Amino acid sequence: MQEFLPGPTRTDGPRLRRAVLAVRGVVQGVGFRPFVYRLASEEGLAGSIANDTGGVSISIEGPPERVEAFCRRLRAEAPPLSRIDSVIALELPVRGETDFRIVASDAHGQVSTGIPADAATCVDCLRELLDPHDRRYRYPFLNCTNCGPRFTITRRIPYDRPQTSMASFKMCPACQAEYDDPADRRFHAQPNACALCGPRVWLAAREGAQIPSDDPVDETISRLVAGEIAAIKGIGGFHLAVEACNEAAVMRLRERKHRYGKPLAVMVRDLEAARAICELTAAEESQLLAVARPIVLARRRQACGIADAVAPGIPWLGVYLPYAPLQHLLFADARVIALVMTSANLSEEPIAIDNHEAVARLGQIADFFLMHDRVILQRCDDSVMALVDGAPQLIRRARGFVPLAVPLPGRPGKDETPPLLAVGGHLKNVFTLAKGGFAYQSQHLGDLENITGLDFFREALAHLMHTFAIEPEAVAHDLHPGYLSTFWAKEWATERKLPLIAEHSLRGSVIGLSLDGTGYGTDGRGDSRIWGGEVLICALDGPDPAGFDRFAHLDYVPMPGGEAAIREPWRMALGALHAAGLDVESPEILALLGAKAQEVRVLRRMIERGVNTPLTSSCGRLFDAVAAVVLGRSVVDYEAQAAIELEGLAVDEPDANASGYPFGMIDGDWELRLPLRISAGPLWRELLADLRTGAAKSQIAARFHAGVAAAFIRAAVSARSATGIQQVALSGGCMHNRRLARLLRSGLEAQGFQVFQHRQVSPGDGGLSYGQAAVAAAILAKES
Ligand SMILES: [Zn+2]
Ligand SMILES: [Zn+2]
Repeated sequence: MQEFLPGPTRTDGPRLRRAVLAVRGVVQGVGFRPFVYRLASEEGLAGSIANDTGGVSISIEGPPERVEAFCRRLRAEAPPLSRIDSVIALELPVRGETDFRIVASDAHGQVSTGIPADAATCVDCLRELLDPHDRRYRYPFLNCTNCGPRFTITRRIPYDRPQTSMASFKMCPACQAEYDDPADRRFHAQPNACALCGPRVWLAAREGAQIPSDDPVDETISRLVAGEIAAIKGIGGFHLAVEACNEAAVMRLRERKHRYGKPLAVMVRDLEAARAICELTAAEESQLLAVARPIVLARRRQACGIADAVAPGIPWLGVYLPYAPLQHLLFADARVIALVMTSANLSEEPIAIDNHEAVARLGQIADFFLMHDRVILQRCDDSVMALVDGAPQLIRRARGFVPLAVPLPGRPGKDETPPLLAVGGHLKNVFTLAKGGFAYQSQHLGDLENITGLDFFREALAHLMHTFAIEPEAVAHDLHPGYLSTFWAKEWATERKLPLIAEHSLRGSVIGLSLDGTGYGTDGRGDSRIWGGEVLICALDGPDPAGFDRFAHLDYVPMPGGEAAIREPWRMALGALHAAGLDVESPEILALLGAKAQEVRVLRRMIERGVNTPLTSSCGRLFDAVAAVVLGRSVVDYEAQAAIELEGLAVDEPDANASGYPFGMIDGDWELRLPLRISAGPLWRELLADLRTGAAKSQIAARFHAGVAAAFIRAAVSARSATGIQQVALSGGCMHNRRLARLLRSGLEAQGFQVFQHRQVSPGDGGLSYGQAAVAAAILAKES
């Protein structure tokens, strides 16, 4: 939106015009001022530009057609890392200025546009990196205003060199001259450096001692090619790297990391190399090349050369391209084809960032280290993205996206939204600070299960509060009393005398399909009911904005052994088959479960007596149960493994909605708020019949996905009949399943629903705090 507000009458004749522009959005620390300087010079305009509290303000004067051309080009040619949200232009009397100046920003002024996200090396820098005649030839830390680290090296705002970890490197005269020259593409590039004055790399042994080497990068390549495991310090933390085509080396990494099944990400040189190992759609290719450089989940090619151990049992690879000069240098060597590059941590611990910390934590995993002395101030994992129906869906929102603001639904720019904190959940935590209609999400913080996780949470919160000058006036948290995040939120809010808002993760005035692996309901029966396959009616515009009603849910099935049933899906299958009224001690079912009669008898007794057997309506657990029966997946190595493998099994089957397995619908009563129950009993009977007749497992997997989608679509149609609501919001970890998300979306749209889905935030645990913030903002806005 660009508006020209009526200004004072011009008294200066018709030949010149002066305009003052207030530009809002991501316009600081992204090369905006040198860009405007160049633009003004090219158009022959005089005036000035300065950073201000909300963005930048520009004053220009010159011939009217030049001023107009400037305004047009300002948007059309804005630097790649910038994002213009609005431009307000005011026409003022001409001053008779003769040159264009960049006015120094007031270091003490309140700067509120924050810090940009980290950005991949740009083409200009890449050219210099590989040019033997350039003074930065093979320098692993080159960058410019269009690229380089930002969020991860910044301590606090304003985003200026003294506030970054580059403060300890004094620029040499050549770098300083670039930094000071408004016409240079490194003008005010805060991390600007060269081999003479900037950070450096070195090799270190497992115990941390430096290994003398003339060319640490070349030595790293030789060792990787020989099958060694490297811990490489990057932008947001350390990566563990190993040659991705070397089966034995990948297995050794898995053994040392104690991580067996979970897929590992693979980095390749360029798009061409990515095409050689994956079948890529145009949308996937454009995400691979985006400045955020996320890991993109893509279909792997048969016999692509990548070791099977990289992503066992699934037809996809998480693939990404180099985004830091050091990575480009590794891949500039013809010997390096593809590298496993995985976050250097043990399971869901925070990623290691500090050199000493890395030695302590990774010395048992890595054979050697490639370190550097540019301090990482913010841990930040790689982001992970999948394309669902051609639209990008963030699975893990971190490097390249943090700390960019995401609008709150229905509230962008609404300044009355009070500052608040939503602490998120338990697994894969991400918290959200909200202010002025925008949500500022933390990077992916991992599981909040111990003190290390909580420390990372505290550290990231302090940083983001400081960065965006947000002092929360309320705290939103999950209903689950056992979550460390809930416990912490209560303590923190009490200390500060802030109101607490307990909320389920839903938003909007909608029918919410919440399909998840873990969850916690409000039916007041303590921890004996675990939700996760829900059709909820949420009316934020109604009398009770916080309220939602449960319209329907997957019928409860027992989880014999509680948590153990999550790790061992065969237990889930046993519970589900028992709930379906089948004889779990029959020879057929014993064979399917791969279990001993004695074990099954014990669990059956537990179920019947309700001992250590919570009930669940979780859709994720239904996937687990089906995977256990169809794939024989009796134990899982990582969360959602069974569901991911089931989706993978069906990958080549058409999306045939009509062929889905049937579910039973046990009527409820909406007036009495008695939910409709969706029973998987009929599904199990047909699925077992298919197994008996030897139907292809890929077809069984496809029919299962189609059946689940059809059942929830039917329930949504019933909900519409009862309430008249036409909008459906899809959320929960099961939405990471692209087949299910696709079937639900297309089926719901065919029924005339308007379908909403998280795009900029993760639909799973990572997006929980965003939903909490949205609901809390709506509640607080009503109260005020
Ligand atoms: Zn650059
Ligand atoms: Zn220098």
